[in-house]
Amino acid sequence: MKSPNANQAFSILKLLRTIIETHDSLANKLNNIVEMIVNEFGADAGSFYIDIDGKLLELFASYGYASDSLPEQSIKVGEDIIGTVAKQNCSQVITDATKIESLARFVKGYKSFLGVPLIRRRRPLGVLAIQNKDAYEYSSIEVEILETISMVLSDVVSSDEMDEFKKDLIKSKGLKETNKIKGTSLSKGYGIGNAVIHKRSHQVTKIFAEDKSAELEKLSSSHIKMNEDLEEKFNSTKLGIGEHVDILETYQMLAKDKGWYKKLCANVESGLTAEAAVERAYEDMWNRLSGTTDSYLKERLHDLRDISDRLLSYVRGDFKSLEEIEGKDIIVVAQIMGPADLMDYDYTKIKGLIIEDGTPTMHVSIVAKALGIPVIAKIKGLYDVLHNGQLIAVDGVDGYVYLSPSKQIRAKIQDKLQEKLELEEKLNSLRDLPAETLDNKHITMLINVGLSFDLDYIEKTNCDGVGLYRTEIPFMSADVMPDVNKQQSYYQDLIDKCGDKKVIFRTLDVGSDKLLPYWGSVGEENPAIGWRSIRITLDRRAILRKQIRAFIRASVDKELNVMFPMVTNLNEFEEAKETLLLELEKEKIKTGAVPKKVNIGLMIEVPALLYQLDAILEQADFISIGTNDLAQFLFACDRGNPRLSDRYDVLSSPFLTMMKEIITKANKAGVYCSVCGEMAGNPIEAMVLIGLGFRRLSMSGSSFGRVKSMIRSINVLEIEDYVETLLKSSKKTLRPQLISYANDHGIEIY
Ligand code: PEP
Ligand code: MG
Repeated sequence: MKSPNANQAFSILKLLRTIIETHDSLANKLNNIVEMIVNEFGADAGSFYIDIDGKLLELFASYGYASDSLPEQSIKVGEDIIGTVAKQNCSQVITDATKIESLARFVKGYKSFLGVPLIRRRRPLGVLAIQNKDAYEYSSIEVEILETISMVLSDVVSSDEMDEFKKDLIKSKGLKETNKIKGTSLSKGYGIGNAVIHKRSHQVTKIFAEDKSAELEKLSSSHIKMNEDLEEKFNSTKLGIGEHVDILETYQMLAKDKGWYKKLCANVESGLTAEAAVERAYEDMWNRLSGTTDSYLKERLHDLRDISDRLLSYVRGDFKSLEEIEGKDIIVVAQIMGPADLMDYDYTKIKGLIIEDGTPTMHVSIVAKALGIPVIAKIKGLYDVLHNGQLIAVDGVDGYVYLSPSKQIRAKIQDKLQEKLELEEKLNSLRDLPAETLDNKHITMLINVGLSFDLDYIEKTNCDGVGLYRTEIPFMSADVMPDVNKQQSYYQDLIDKCGDKKVIFRTLDVGSDKLLPYWGSVGEENPAIGWRSIRITLDRRAILRKQIRAFIRASVDKELNVMFPMVTNLNEFEEAKETLLLELEKEKIKTGAVPKKVNIGLMIEVPALLYQLDAILEQADFISIGTNDLAQFLFACDRGNPRLSDRYDVLSSPFLTMMKEIITKANKAGVYCSVCGEMAGNPIEAMVLIGLGFRRLSMSGSSFGRVKSMIRSINVLEIEDYVETLLKSSKKTLRPQLISYANDHGIEIY
């Protein structure tokens, strides 16, 4: 039998390319391809099955089978030899199936089998197989060649024409198309639009360069054009300011990164084509980083995949701005997506984003959120059953996607959209009204600030000040550790925006989930309770001193409030305080320009502090409760673990009793006390905090209106009484009772 060797691989790929480039229908092309493969491999027959919905494989092309042993038209994933290739997502070689009991019934006159899966982005698309009547052992070279063919084919198969084929098949087979699918909401909101399946190919078709200098030239011009286009795209999109802008800037920086570009050139110099050079550079990085559990590095890897795909499309000359495709409202559906990809569409038209994989920290979801686009993630299989243009409704509140939604569902979503609009208007109208309860108690409302985006909220919310400035965030988005001057400019910017409003700076809270790109990971077993936060800054005192110097210089003639995070014992606070006072003394001697008042405080985040609270309150000018970490450590429950997110509730007696003790002691000692964890920004939880005696709440700017609305509808005395009775409850959560209470008393908890 004729069987190809390594030297023939090139000519087979050439034949393949010729067939793909013909202007024939997809079905004809695939039939011709299967025929060509059977002939070139000297096989007796071959088939190509397409994965319809992740469960079913449908025969799309075949060649050479005798009329009495035709292949099955439909095969379930996992069944038969073909179904096994799809299920296991790996090639199968069988020399003589008659000798394998479990396979004997599938033989039908063909003893040997070689099947390879078509995979795209780790997802099976179909199976390509050849068979021989006699027993035959396919060589590893044959397996490799068929796998290379399948790689190239996966691009061909991911076409609109194939989508149409699948759509028709789903209809004709009566498979469910109108569907309600549950996912995870990453950005709340509702939307209706036509599906646009986001695809960007990164399949490399030519690996070795024939003309190095031509490839280098292609790489250079593509790189320049891509960066020019990105610049223009970002400038022309009205993004405002915010974390999403920082993300996009970081993305742009990565696209311009000289080190990356040098690596691409070196790859071309070593003999690769421009496209293979881009892919190789990504693979190198993937090999180094794919095992990391570090979320920051994972995001960088996502970004690099996205930038590599983008550059590849320029190298191949097939880049086109996607916004030209659709003029209507759209719902973008992607398997994975980079933040800049969203900008390829007219973002005002994007009414929803569905990502098959996806996490809340994924950059594209942060950008989408900032643009007010609802995002649903973790929807498996959607990519397969959907077709371009299909109407989709997205319920980003409960996390549902409706395929071809019914009239009733469409009406429901429209009502929700209208409600949302009305609520936004209502909350905005509260801006200039006092944060006062029905019984005239004033609540100080502050905001938490991290990135430039949050600064917008100072004016927008008319808040009383900044209760938590997470200084680590600018450190995290920089490439090198910012020096004193740079830091001073960040802090100055915030102070200028705040005018006479209070600002509480928190010293660097890094480690655990907040890693600095320029510090290697320490690789701790338990980073959340590891070397982080004040533990780092006390051990690396120069960093703390520099930051304090920047705070002092930015607050000349103003009030300076500095707090230390993750303090676990009094001693740490004393040391940190002493460092601050020393720096203050030095500045006094050096320039004489110092703040007019300095308040030194700390965050209450570690339960051990509760047993040192009296001493702490004697030494601290103020305290702020970080309920996110405090709950994590009190309940011994990882705050980032979705499996545990519903297990323990801050609205339960242990947590509330502890909070009550803190505020009671702080009030007695006359020490300013606020809450700056997420609790303060959730209306029902903030209501309970007020009931416990808290009067200062610091929250994200986006929660401000909803909390203010709650405050303006409560009676403090009544809430205090009610919360007091709840503290005795042994229930795992008091949330349902509290929600009923709010509803019964006309308290606005949106
Ligand atoms: C907290 O722990 O509640 C807090 C406000 O700090 P962060 O969320 O930044 O850890
Ligand atoms: Mg914290």
